[in-house]
Amino acid sequence: MFCPKHPRETLLAYQLVDGLNAHSCPTCSGSWLLSEDYQAWQATQVDPALRVDSLTVPINHHIDYQPSRYDNRAGLCPSCGFYLVRGRINLKKVSFFVERCPGCKGMWCDDGEWEILDRLGLSAYFPVLFTDEWQSHVRVAEAKFREQLATAEKLGPDIAEKLFELAKLLEEHPNGDFGVAYLMRRFEK
Ligand SMILES: [Zn+2]
Ligand SMILES: [Zn+2]
Repeated sequence: MFCPKHPRETLLAYQLVDGLNAHSCPTCSGSWLLSEDYQAWQATQVDPALRVDSLTVPINHHIDYQPSRYDNRAGLCPSCGFYLVRGRINLKKVSFFVERCPGCKGMWCDDGEWEILDRLGLSAYFPVLFTDEWQSHVRVAEAKFREQLATAEKLGPDIAEKLFELAKLLEEHPNGDFGVAYLMRRFEK
């Protein structure tokens, strides 16, 4: 098998983490995960009750990370030759792509990406990152994050913090709409 980013480099077998066999490129240190190897490891990790919308969307995470210089390079599957499909991960200040083969479902991480997914609690949910369900979960979370940023900019961080707290309290209260109506009355002309 050859590196998706360096078609002449042979991938070398190693253990990415305990119990997870992978194949690494000596030039870029990227990792190729065969679907069966990943699944065997994943079965020991995943909480089957966990729903996609309870996974962390990392838009609010600041991780000091410089994406691999090969992150933007398109690659072919080392196992079956299809073009790898990219899944974008947006952190607070940086974004990168993880890749997956549509044929054999093998997975590629450029150098450093696995460690970040792991820190975010997403490494055991790699295939989920390529689903529509995850994409829409991300869109909702990112829109909410941008709205909060804009609100904090207008009101200042202290009032914004109180406002978000109050909104959460009202949301969770069975009569929360009375609180909202009260606020609206206060602002009626
Ligand atoms: Zn490489
Ligand atoms: Zn493949």
